[in-house]
Amino acid sequence: MLEAEKEARALLVELAASLFARGFSVGTAGNISVRLADGYLITPTNSSLGRLDPARLSKLDRQWRHVAGDPPSKEVFMHRAVLTARPAAGAVVHLHSTYATAIACLAAVGETAPIPPLTPYFVMRIGPRLPVLPYWRPGDPAMEPAIFAAAQTARAMLLANHGPLVSGATLTDAVAAAEELEEAARLALLLRGQGARCLTPAQVEELIATFG
Ligand code: ZN
Repeated sequence: MLEAEKEARALLVELAASLFARGFSVGTAGNISVRLADGYLITPTNSSLGRLDPARLSKLDRQWRHVAGDPPSKEVFMHRAVLTARPAAGAVVHLHSTYATAIACLAAVGETAPIPPLTPYFVMRIGPRLPVLPYWRPGDPAMEPAIFAAAQTARAMLLANHGPLVSGATLTDAVAAAEELEEAARLALLLRGQGARCLTPAQVEELIATFG
């Protein structure tokens, strides 16, 4: 095994445990994938992010065929959709984290801007677009082409009545973006209906121009 893959396995287990310990994931919810030189790593089906074994992570080849470790998460196709649509993305984090999922359950939430730009950090990590995709039953194959299409222009998205799906250039970036999204969702719900002062369109544009 390449040294880079060993490091990726260790980092995935460490960051997953950190997310679990802080309540970003409960039970066996949530899954994380990382792009490798010769394929992908993803958390196994029915595994808890709090207790992953680096040696048992699912290894997939470049065609997403399972080649080693435990069987992959049943949500592997969501990761495939994002990592195929975004060749520069190195990792994907999917959570059922409470506040982002709460926003994804709101009937009246906007389909393109469900979370207002309250802080620069949210804009810098998530970018100008956070699409809300429709509800699908778990495992519905219709999800993959829709996620692939949305991921062309958005580094993160909310799946209605399900949870956030977030990509990043690296695993560390993807985890940080998923955390920032959860905090932004929490702020948005805390401030709902209270006349919060959002960043102006010009302030958002300046952040995008400066930080990408
Ligand atoms: Zn899920």
